[in-house]
Amino acid sequence: MSDIEERLEELERLGLSRRLRLISGPQGPTVLLDGRPVLLLCSNNYLGLADHPRVRQAAAEAAMRWGVGAGASRLVSGTMTIHRRLEERLAAFERSEACLLFGSGYLANVGVIDALAGAGDTIFSDELNHASIIDGCRLSRAEVVVYRHADMEHLDWSLRRHGGRRDDRGGKLIVTDSVFSMDGEVAPLEDIVELAHMHGARTVVDEAHATGALGPDGRGAIAEAGLEGEVDVLVGTLGKALGSYGAYVCADAEMVRYLINTARPLIFSTAPPPPAVAGALAALEILCERPHRVERLRSNARVLRRSLAGEGFRVQEDGMHIVPLIVGDERVAMNLCQGAIERGVFAQAIRPPTVAGGTSRLRLTAMASHTPEELRMAARVLGDVAHAMGLDPAEIGPPPIERRAADEEPSLPDAEPFFPEVEPSTAELALELTTAEVSAGRERLASAARSRPRSPMPFDAELPDDASSDRAAASRDRATALSEQSMPAEPATANAPFDFERETAAVPRAA
Ligand code: PMP
Repeated sequence: MSDIEERLEELERLGLSRRLRLISGPQGPTVLLDGRPVLLLCSNNYLGLADHPRVRQAAAEAAMRWGVGAGASRLVSGTMTIHRRLEERLAAFERSEACLLFGSGYLANVGVIDALAGAGDTIFSDELNHASIIDGCRLSRAEVVVYRHADMEHLDWSLRRHGGRRDDRGGKLIVTDSVFSMDGEVAPLEDIVELAHMHGARTVVDEAHATGALGPDGRGAIAEAGLEGEVDVLVGTLGKALGSYGAYVCADAEMVRYLINTARPLIFSTAPPPPAVAGALAALEILCERPHRVERLRSNARVLRRSLAGEGFRVQEDGMHIVPLIVGDERVAMNLCQGAIERGVFAQAIRPPTVAGGTSRLRLTAMASHTPEELRMAARVLGDVAHAMGLDPAEIGPPPIERRAADEEPSLPDAEPFFPEVEPSTAELALELTTAEVSAGRERLASAARSRPRSPMPFDAELPDDASSDRAAASRDRATALSEQSMPAEPATANAPFDFERETAAVPRAA
């Protein structure tokens, strides 16, 4: 047996073996997983822009105009106009002096951290930071101090222990996710920035899961905390809420000039491809024109959280669109994932090394393009599967108990009617109702959903003819219509669960 085979067997034995699942169709609310329609509840296409007709069109037109590849690093074969245009728009969006595109969020974090810290410097990194930050720290050869998750006393103590006079600035770097990717928690950015100022440290904040989801008009957690201009480097991604691929850094012009000269993934890797850049540009335009998508994501997050709490899961009603259902054991997480898939809900199990051992989980993500009823259905399915496996939902939820101080225990959802502005009729699902009342409410919602007019859905050329769901049928209708015209031009539908059709009709497309 080869050492590779041995290692693979070991992963299997530990319940840590991974395989790629094949899905058909875009990252819409429903995909075909191994040929079966399932609700997609684990995509980072938070605003439903990856499959938005205007974004697709912009990418397609860019491919025709500029070609598919960027040819080389921008330092070798030149910055293309489309790169420059997106950088200008992103800098304006983030209220920043300058912006620089990177090939991906992973590359941006690795490049920025390595550029800003080296041997003799110290990096202070939250224990739940993304792997790309961890790898950036490792590559930099700086000393790395991992502080307890969001623990500002620990960060303060660590900064003091490693010197900390203001004039030491440059030797210390604090790095944090703003919204933690596997937990959905928001970093205490105000405190972090204050400590950075006190101790003369630079700050890098990764907004990968905050852009488009948090802050005024979706400008992220830094804007939400009123800290624009206070963070040295903001890292954002194009592959999540902005529906494309790639990443960017926002900073002052001097910092960007420095990164152009020192960030190795920028210097030694091919620039982002024009279609991806143009797609992100169109997505950014849509986000700026239609910030209500962000509201829709927030309200969907609330529906998902409330519904999970209604099923007995230990989930707070207020919070981000990322909802971890932490079960602990790797195999239990995989079984819960598989059980949910068999009942039509795809929420990927996340295991080590992505999360710490003993904190395996399903990581659920709401998208703006889900309907509230889809999210309620998903919560019911997850509750049913947990019960069928003999699990107590009250034991499942964020975050692991040992990480949380007693005074921070998740509070029970309160009794206020939720979401009246979107769906007043669903107030009956408020959690103070009896089980019988909730069941009656569900039955009413289910029959309302059955009688709801079918909504046109995004073009999905990969759906097979025999797909059975309403959504698949609607997609087929739409695909047929699309084959007869070059661009989708759906009529506005009053009861459409989401509004991209109206946006497509109303707004001129990006060049
Ligand atoms: N930062 C965070 C917090 C992430 O979650 C991710 C990806 N999941 C990245 C960076 C990497 O971004 P990308 O996928 O663009 O490489």
